[in-house]
Amino acid sequence: MTIVEQPYAYRRRELVEPDWTRLPGWAGVTAAEWADVQWQRAHCVKNVRQLRELMGDLLEDSFYADLERDQAERATMSMLVPPQMLNTMVPATDGPVPAAGAEYTAAFLADPVRRYMLPVFSDRRSDWPSHPHATRDSLHEHDMWVTEGLTHRYPTKVLAELLPTCPQYCGHCTRMDLVGNSTPQVTKLKLAGKPVDRYSAMLGYLGTHPEVRDVVVSGGDVANMPWKNLEAFLLRLLEIDNVRDVRLATKALMGLPQHWLAPDVVEGVGRVAQVARARGVNLAIHTHVNSAQSVTPAVAAAARAMLDAGVRDVRNQGVLMRGVNDTPEQLLDLCFALQDDAMVTPYYFYMCDMIPFSEHWRVSLKHAQHLQHAMMGYLPGFATPRIVCDVPFVGKRWVHQVEDYDTERGISYWRKNYRTSIEGDDTEALSRDYVYYDPIDTLPEAGQQWWLQQSAASAAQDAAAAQDAARASRELAQAQLG
Ligand code: SF4
Repeated sequence: MTIVEQPYAYRRRELVEPDWTRLPGWAGVTAAEWADVQWQRAHCVKNVRQLRELMGDLLEDSFYADLERDQAERATMSMLVPPQMLNTMVPATDGPVPAAGAEYTAAFLADPVRRYMLPVFSDRRSDWPSHPHATRDSLHEHDMWVTEGLTHRYPTKVLAELLPTCPQYCGHCTRMDLVGNSTPQVTKLKLAGKPVDRYSAMLGYLGTHPEVRDVVVSGGDVANMPWKNLEAFLLRLLEIDNVRDVRLATKALMGLPQHWLAPDVVEGVGRVAQVARARGVNLAIHTHVNSAQSVTPAVAAAARAMLDAGVRDVRNQGVLMRGVNDTPEQLLDLCFALQDDAMVTPYYFYMCDMIPFSEHWRVSLKHAQHLQHAMMGYLPGFATPRIVCDVPFVGKRWVHQVEDYDTERGISYWRKNYRTSIEGDDTEALSRDYVYYDPIDTLPEAGQQWWLQQSAASAAQDAAAAQDAARASRELAQAQLG
């Protein structure tokens, strides 16, 4: 029999929970403590001091200096990493733990989970740290709020942001405008309304908009909402006749699986799932896993607990990032880990959104198309994820749906077939081109030069405008004195 060599060699890998006692600060932590959600929440790493205490002499001082500089000058998210996630960095499950010092630091710097959960200054690009068109709310979700926290962007679907916190903060978070604590670079937007009032307004809107049938219940992360409050909201949501799909968004299924394994939560999900089933509503959980090493037995147990409780499906929406999962092997390894042993359906990979300081994570559309092509044919069709570009003012578009693409300047053009909630009387909304930009450092030399010239011209314009404003203000002051 001839064995045909394939570009990707599938092999089933056993899921492994890395040994947390290899980390000096957790050398004495018991399995019972590790499984306890309160212990996990209480031992999250929130600052450099706590990371030092945990890691002992494993990491060199240069790493902490790099991390501190990033926190001060670049970070758009504050630090918050649950033990479960930290334990999957340099998991040492295929070999010995690297030696303390230079060897461990190099392995930690190269680790895909570390790269997006604990970003350091030297990870980021120094030439173009941000794209000139990067913005805080890059998807304009707030512009499309129909009540505070409820984004109506697609004809039949809404996103309900119930709360602005998560059990873990990801460096690349697309909702960096709202989610988490302020950083030196980003003062976060605050939700103004009281939670009960916001939820009532959301439910009121849904009850009077029969065209909305699909609700993504998100945040933040719903795992940070006290269960009884979330259950109360979901039960009221399920009373609305037009709601046919409910998806709970929680990265914590991976980052803090202990939450979804806690008996009160499992029982609560069971009650909500029963009501959903009785009313013919599809209740699903959407999680966010970016790397195969994050899929451990605890994560698989949490996904199975949700399915056993009656949730119809658990699906993964990862984010495509350079140095994390930007090769076909990394993506396929992750998808098979999810599909083979965790019963999580690979669903989407989003291109990383155009938020400030994200250029080192973003990939070009061309590369995303290559990855999509390379993934086809290995997984079952229903579990072959689509790589999508979330185009501002448009929504998710499969990367091959692009209308036009200037690969020299890295500008892609997209169209859409529906109006968002803010385009009711916009007659050109469906014929306009909407744009997305590749990271500039990935462009050919001519494209990079073009962006440098654009940037110089725009800086000159800004300087001229500033001079005009200063002159006008001086003239006004003199006129007032005179
Ligand atoms: S879990 Fe989701 S919402 Fe929370 S920080 Fe990460 S990406 Fe943002």
